[in-house]
Amino acid sequence: MGRRLGACACCGFKGEIRARGLVHACYARHRIKGTLSQFPRTKKQKPAPPRLDLNPAAYGSPAEFALACLKARKTVVEAERITGLPAHVIRRLVERQPGWLLGADGRVRVFDTSPEERQLA
Ligand SMILES: [Zn+2]
Repeated sequence: MGRRLGACACCGFKGEIRARGLVHACYARHRIKGTLSQFPRTKKQKPAPPRLDLNPAAYGSPAEFALACLKARKTVVEAERITGLPAHVIRRLVERQPGWLLGADGRVRVFDTSPEERQLA
């Protein structure tokens, strides 16, 4: 990671930001005092997968339930276990979703398909 310059989130002093929006001195001080948690991490964090409702009644069909599992970053095997839908049925469902591709890890990757591409297909 490159050096970042900015104003310290703690004291406003302009300098090299160490982490959490703090300059070195403030970062060290808060780390020693154990008060770093006051300052949120600034590194980009992976967006959390959508929360999965495990109640089948929340979905219109077992297929929708299985797709919701996959969207929540579950593998096909996990989706099979959760929904009771056979894995081969789940795989066929994935094949029918535009832009969805099953990875070697059993998780779905979603590719953006632009409206123009969809019209051509
Ligand atoms: Zn500071």
